[in-house]
Amino acid sequence: MTKQVESICPYCGAGCHIMFSVDEAANKIVDAVPAKGRTNDGTLCLKGHYGWDFLNDPQILTKRLRHPMIRKGGKESPLEEVGWDEAIHFVAGRLTEIKNTYGPDAIMGTASARGPGNEAAYVMQKFMRACVGTNNIDHCARI
Ligand code: SF4
Repeated sequence: MTKQVESICPYCGAGCHIMFSVDEAANKIVDAVPAKGRTNDGTLCLKGHYGWDFLNDPQILTKRLRHPMIRKGGKESPLEEVGWDEAIHFVAGRLTEIKNTYGPDAIMGTASARGPGNEAAYVMQKFMRACVGTNNIDHCARI
């Protein structure tokens, strides 16, 4: 049995209203959809829609904070801990493949509202524009 619980997204300062579906027996959030809020008007960004699996498995986030992790066998495969060199080469290789196949506008960068500050956001937009070759750079709070 699930119950609906309306709340505010805690990720950024936009304050979007969310309707959570909570599995009462397991006491777990199983789904999130937009609620009509003053700032979000029935929409959510990707984090508000999908960013809740870590609540049921805290290891998903905390492991990634300590070590880079890759799903080597694709989306359904388990996360494997790797070194920084392997992680950076993996990401660089995949971005290059996508750019060569579909062009730079097939790639988007999203900067973060939390923690890293203006300097990191500046570096991110420079990377997307000068290295990747696209203007597809945005900010997580813009829905
Ligand atoms: S913009 Fe996204 S992260 Fe920010 S409050 Fe809304 S849903 Fe949450």
